[in-house]
This record gives sequence, structure tokens and C-alpha cells, in this order.
Amino acid sequence: MAKKVFVTHQLPGKRIHELSRHCEMNVWMGPGLLPSAALRTQLTGCHGLVCLLTDRIDKALLDQLPELEFVSSMSVGVDHIDVQALSERGIPVGNTPGVLVDTTADTAFALLLAAARRVAEADRFVRDGQWTAANAWAPEFFTGKDVTGATLGIVGLGEIGQAVARRAAGFGMRVLAWSRTAREVPGVEMLALDELLQRSDFVSVHVALAPQTRNLLDAARIARMKPGAVLVNTARGGIVDEQALAEALAGGRLSAAGVDVFEREPVAADNPLLRLPNVVVTPHIGSATTLTRARMADIAAANAIAALAGQAMPCCVNPQVYG
Ligand code: NAP
Repeated sequence: MAKKVFVTHQLPGKRIHELSRHCEMNVWMGPGLLPSAALRTQLTGCHGLVCLLTDRIDKALLDQLPELEFVSSMSVGVDHIDVQALSERGIPVGNTPGVLVDTTADTAFALLLAAARRVAEADRFVRDGQWTAANAWAPEFFTGKDVTGATLGIVGLGEIGQAVARRAAGFGMRVLAWSRTAREVPGVEMLALDELLQRSDFVSVHVALAPQTRNLLDAARIARMKPGAVLVNTARGGIVDEQALAEALAGGRLSAAGVDVFEREPVAADNPLLRLPNVVVTPHIGSATTLTRARMADIAAANAIAALAGQAMPCCVNPQVYG
């Protein structure tokens, strides 16, 4: 009898059709994202799950799914999944690393440039009809911060962090980095986190969200940042203390921020960052290009196909389950 696999969203790419030939596949057709209560109902009796980062897979859910044999997420981050609980049950968890590295690094750089040069603020100014003869080109008009020649501090020198470092080299930036694991990357100076924060004109966050990185940039660390610095976060909400960041921006200690990810998503309307003109915000679109999303979906499908065939997933975050 064919195994049952539930897919929590319609996916792009070609391999998802191939997956349907290997199992009895049920896909959530919307509208919108799958509500968490529906996830539990839909998953009952399923052997496999193909999910998005918006689906929370926790212990309580797993306890109700004795048949579950694998989870394949269309994301590189797996902080929405209790990987430890799955590992304890011997269940492999797949993710989609590699293919979204350049796309996400581009987003980080887009936010860095937009924050430095006040692009979103200037766009609103023009559209709001404020660009008048009385309020136009002048020596101080919409002046921002130079990127070329500035110092960039990368927090988390994984794949995306290194791709951001390559972009920074093209802008003639001096690149500093802090990472849990020391690495030798040409053109990058590794430093302790506090020293990086003190020396960087721009700080870009690229660590995974884990218990050890939750609130990594808390109020005390934000207070250590160089006066007038710019903070960019395309990693995960929860790594940067949003309240402390908002206070540093409102008080003028930091000059701007670019934020793609929030502690709560979709972001709450009363999030203090949304009230600040010097914050550029995007709705978690780091990997959002058509090609990259198709590539991610193809890897998620390939992980599921391998699991159904009793093979190791090509991209697995807990390979220890294979012994
Ligand atoms: P990666 O190559 O696996 O790098 C992960 C980074 O996180 C490394 O620097 C790693 O440190 C660090 N890290 C992981 N666990 C840690 C821990 N417990 N304590 C301290 N550091 C830890 O992943 P990547 O492809 O660069 O992606 C990085 C993150 O970006 C993802 O986890 C995801 O959350 C986020 N992301 C966001 C978007 C978006 O749409 N905004 C898109 C893609 C990715 P070491 O390797 O030095 O040990």
C-alpha cells in the first residue's frame, strides 16, 4: 500500500510531481497558509510531511503522529521544527541548504544599501507629494551613510554570511566576522562578537536561530554597537531584541536598520520598528525569487522521495538517525 504524504502548500518546481508518483499525496490547497489545527488533522495517519517554515512541528504534535517517518521542510532554517524530538524518535528532518545562499545574500545587501541610503524613506517622501521646490535638493537633503570603504561585521559566517562577505568585497568594505566555529575565509577578519559590534559601521546577522542564538543581539550587545551603525537582519526574528533595537534607532544611537524577519510573523501592527522612518522592512522575502523557490521545492521533494525509498535524505539536518 502506498505511503501517505501530506504537503502543507502547493509547491513550485518539477520534482513535486515526481513525489506524487511515489506516494498517496495530499496537498493543502488553501486559501492561505495551513492553520495549525488543520495540520494536526491532515497529518493523522501520514507517514511523511513536506512543510514550510510557517508550519510549527512540536512535541505535542508529534505525540499524535505515531506513523510519521520523515519531515522535509522547504527551508534552510529548521527552528520551526523540534529536531531533537524527531531525532529521539529516529525521524529524519530534511532542509534545503545551498540553493538560496546567493538570493538571501542579495536581500541582505539590498536592505543594507536601502537602510544606508534611506531608499524606502525617500520613496515614501516622493509618493506622498513632499518633494516640492521648498523641500528639494540641498547639501543635506536625504543624506545617508557611505557603504563603500565602511566596515561590515558579519554575525554568523555560514554559507549566507560568506556570500555577504563576497558582496562586501566588491564594495571595498573591510569585513569582520564572528562565528561559533572559527573559519579562515580570505579577506575576512574573525573577531569576538563584542569587538565586532564595537568596530562595525554595518552589522549583518546570519546565524541560525537556536536556543544559543536567541536574543544574541540583546539590549546590552546593541548598546555596544558603534554609534551611528546600521543593523541588518535577514536570519530570523528572535535573534535580535526588537524592542532594544527600536529604542536604539529612535534615540539616534543607531542610524538605520533593515529587517526581513520578525519575532512574530506576520509582524504585529504595533511592532515598534514599524513606526520608525529609519527602518526598512520586508516580509521575510530573503529567498524569494522564482528560480530559488523552485530549487528549494525540488530539494524538499527529493528529500521526501529518498525517505520513501528507504534511503538517506540528500539534505538532512539530523543524519545521526541513520546510525
Ligand atoms: P549555514 O551555512 O548552516 O550557517 C548557519 C550559521 O548559524 C553558521 O554561522 C553557524 O555557526 C550558526 N549557528 C548555527 N547554530 C548555532 C548555534 N547553536 N550557536 C551559534 N551559532 C550557530 O546556514 P545559511 O544557509 O548561512 O543560513 C543561515 C540562516 O539564515 C538560516 O538558519 C535561516 O534561519 C536564515 N535564512 C533566512 C532567509 C530569509 O528568508 N530571510 C533565507 C535563508 C536563510 P558555525 O557554522 O560557525 O558553527
